[in-house]
Amino acid sequence: MNFLTTRNDVLKKLDNFIENNLSEYTKLRNFDFGIQNRKNTSCLSPYVSHGTISEIEVINKVLKKHLFNKSEKFIQEILWRIYWKGWLELRPSVWDDYLISLKTCREKYKNEKKYLNAIEGNTNIQCFNDWVKELKETNYLHNHTRMWFASIWIFTLDLPWELGAEFFLKHLYDGDSASNTLGWRWVAGIQTPGKHYLASEWNIKKFTNNRYEKIKLNESAKPKISKKIYSISKSDFVSSEIADGKILLIFDNNLSFEFSDFKDKKFNKILLVNNNKSREISLSNKVIKFKESLLQDQLERLKNLSIDCEIIKIEDIKKYCNDVYALYPSVGENLDFINSKELKNIQFLYRKIDQFSWQYCNKGFFHFKNYIPKIIQNIS
Ligand SMILES: Cc1cc2nc3c(=O)[nH]c(=O)nc-3n(C[C@H](O)[C@H](O)[C@H](O)COP(=O)(O)OP(=O)(O)OC[C@H]3O[C@@H](n4cnc5c(N)ncnc54)[C@H](O)[C@@H]3O)c2cc1C
Repeated sequence: MNFLTTRNDVLKKLDNFIENNLSEYTKLRNFDFGIQNRKNTSCLSPYVSHGTISEIEVINKVLKKHLFNKSEKFIQEILWRIYWKGWLELRPSVWDDYLISLKTCREKYKNEKKYLNAIEGNTNIQCFNDWVKELKETNYLHNHTRMWFASIWIFTLDLPWELGAEFFLKHLYDGDSASNTLGWRWVAGIQTPGKHYLASEWNIKKFTNNRYEKIKLNESAKPKISKKIYSISKSDFVSSEIADGKILLIFDNNLSFEFSDFKDKKFNKILLVNNNKSREISLSNKVIKFKESLLQDQLERLKNLSIDCEIIKIEDIKKYCNDVYALYPSVGENLDFINSKELKNIQFLYRKIDQFSWQYCNKGFFHFKNYIPKIIQNIS
């Protein structure tokens, strides 16, 4: 597993997947064949989560080669990210509450042997230990494996989901506040109340192609319960009017400005924001380096277009706070930084696909799915 960091490499990876593997995606996507054989899924999440390539670009490229009904499953997966993002945007206090609860769990578990053994991959469950190693070494896990991992963490190792979600965010190249927090809540059974995801021996055995067997799991655990019900607290995502000659801030979730909705607007300068050291969840050095390389690639592409730009530290935003625009960073650590410093002069610009799709994130994904043809029609 080698995650290269230029947009050119990402486009080649996408083209190659569409050409050679997409037609088998629906049949094979749930198999984790191991680190050496990752062709059955796209492995594009580290790039889509950083905006190096956008969901729209991926979907448009797919539909140039494949009919909608032959690529529907893959397109649905691409849109899961937007759905989870929208769901959290409508209920941002889910993220705030997660961070509060995480602090309590950290305190309680900091010296707990079962927690320390889990994050060192030192449990009596071989597959789990292997996945801990794989996560730290490759900074990626297959989707099904993330589900098994989270389920074992919560229901067999009996650890709080909040700490597992933190462990993922620290090490994943695609770490994303929405997909990760809501993915863990879903496995625990508090995202869709009463419905949890229970990993089982037969399922792991089958979908790892018999690489693991004799796995002792708690296969009868009950879903976790949360008394908290979140109603929708925010629903207007209107971009500010853009006046020429201002500064634009871009965070690490929107790294393809030259293909964005705002590419034709005239900004005086573009500042790429790096290095959020005031994060609540610290990232591993490899993840920090990965982000720096993606930012550097965006910087070079902008320079090639003769756009005045530089990379700045997040703490330096304060210097530029008069009439600055920012591509919306989404609920998560960067938005938390802006809110904590009360940087009220930053005016957010929202992607059209988010503005259009998030209105359908008020209920579950099955409801959202009905609107996928409409979303595609709207974006293409
Ligand atoms: C507990 C848990 C935590 C997760 N944490 C993250 C996270 O921090 N960041 C993250 O990007 N994904 C997360 N996911 C979702 C999913 O596992 C990854 O996006 C997927 O494994 C990426 O691999 P791929 O690119 O090969 O996916 P493919 O199967 O090729 O799918 C194509 C694209 O669709 C999107 N996608 C697919 N599945 C999902 C999903 N369930 N949710 C959101 N988007 C999806 C991704 O952009 C992906 O690149 C998590 C899932 C679980 C169960």
